[in-house]
Amino acid sequence: MAKQFDNFIAGEWVKGAGYQPNINPSDTSDIVGDFARARVEQAHDAIAAASGAAMDWGLASPQVRSDALRKAGDEILGRKDEVGYLLSREEGKTLAEGIGETARAAQVFHFFSGEALRLSGETLPSVRPGISVETSREPVGVIGLITPWNFPIAIPAWKIAPALAFGNTVVFKPAESAPACGWVLADILSRAGLPDGVFNLVMGKGSEVGDAIIHHPGVGGVSFTGSVKTGGLVRDAAGGHGARVQLEMGGKNPLVVLDDADLDIAVDCAVQGAFYSTGQRCTASSRLIVTKGIHDAFVAGVIAAMKKLKVGNAVDPKTQIGPVVDASQLNQDMSYIELGQKEGATLAMGGERLELETKGFYLSPALFTDSANDMRINREEIFGPVASVIRVKDYDEALNIANDTAFGLSAGICTQSLKYASDFKRKSQAGMVMVNLPTAGVDYHVPFGGRKRSSYGSREQGAYAREFYTIVKTAYTRPS
Ligand code: NAD
Repeated sequence: MAKQFDNFIAGEWVKGAGYQPNINPSDTSDIVGDFARARVEQAHDAIAAASGAAMDWGLASPQVRSDALRKAGDEILGRKDEVGYLLSREEGKTLAEGIGETARAAQVFHFFSGEALRLSGETLPSVRPGISVETSREPVGVIGLITPWNFPIAIPAWKIAPALAFGNTVVFKPAESAPACGWVLADILSRAGLPDGVFNLVMGKGSEVGDAIIHHPGVGGVSFTGSVKTGGLVRDAAGGHGARVQLEMGGKNPLVVLDDADLDIAVDCAVQGAFYSTGQRCTASSRLIVTKGIHDAFVAGVIAAMKKLKVGNAVDPKTQIGPVVDASQLNQDMSYIELGQKEGATLAMGGERLELETKGFYLSPALFTDSANDMRINREEIFGPVASVIRVKDYDEALNIANDTAFGLSAGICTQSLKYASDFKRKSQAGMVMVNLPTAGVDYHVPFGGRKRSSYGSREQGAYAREFYTIVKTAYTRPS
């Protein structure tokens, strides 16, 4: 029997109502562990514990909060190889990506360890004589954090660290298909010096545990990353009882390639952006919008690069593209590959189910050409290693098509023209714009987020994280 991993509630490890196996997508005979499925009442217990701890933690010295986050970050960094291996094993991204993501989680904890000490307010003169006005930032209270499977340690880190840094208490629910890294974070935080109840982990199904968190009136804020569909449920339920809501959701990110682009850079941006992490990134480039002069050379370059990509077991250091996360995501990818062909696009490369040494959810990266922006493969998020090329006549048409989408997370352009790069940065309807860089791949000390259906509420990460995790108070004083 695989090892069992429990919930963490009010400073105690607590058994679940049942346990769910976490299956390695590179080798389905390998069970990473059995992870607790919390009962709804246990989610309520966690919220009660977080509520009970909120006042003291909110008033604790920022030094205490800073020290706890520093300690957690140190342990994550010290164990990055081991935790990165676990991440690759449970989620299927390559070892280099798994270790890199774990190191990123540590950097996020270290960053917010500093931010805990930098919370500031303002003192202003009042418009009324003899009165002073000051603003300060206070914690929100209990924050519910709900995360997806595709960045199982970085996304929890960039929600948990700012929540705790600014004096909130946390009830955290990781994705059911990749809970191991979330559990490791809870284990590390259980030794970081946090009082009981400040941080709680409840694992299990979104429709049970997640649902209990978003509907509970004791939760003052919910930060969610995941699909547009679930995000809508979170907004309605949590917003409905007055909680603040922050949502990061899907993308259909364009990469524009202009005739004057450096071809090698453009091909590299496309291949990395579309296929690394098996295309399972909200910032993945899924629409490659290419002007006609460079189109054929670009397509030939991308296909040549794709032929060299090694798809394989995520923990094999030679692997460049790991498996798809699970059977249902693989089915979704395959159905879009079929749909694209029915819609009239040409499957120029890949899109085949692969049988390798170990039984896993392997798919060769797929490239469509001759696609149009109104095809469903270009309108709906596929969330796999699938990209399509849209041929356009010039920059203006490329910009229009890039913006013609319900999403607005990340957008990229490859060009050597300052004029077009500057214009694209200004007119792109995306929260993040990349010039001669892949659409995926961001820094942790600057804001992250999108527009339209990709995001809702204030930005995550960097100093902007305080907008969500603090509430401003305005105090007036008349010296007596
Ligand atoms: P998902 O929406 O299925 O699940 C996300 C989380 O919500 C999980 O923890 C799940 O258990 C929980 N959940 C499900 N139903 C719920 C309910 N009724 N109430 C409360 N919680 C519920 O998403 P996923 O498949 O895990 O992740 C893939 C999606 O995440 C993609 O759409 C991707 O674009 C998006 N994503 C966005 C970003 C971003 O920052 N914009 C980053 C990574 C992933």
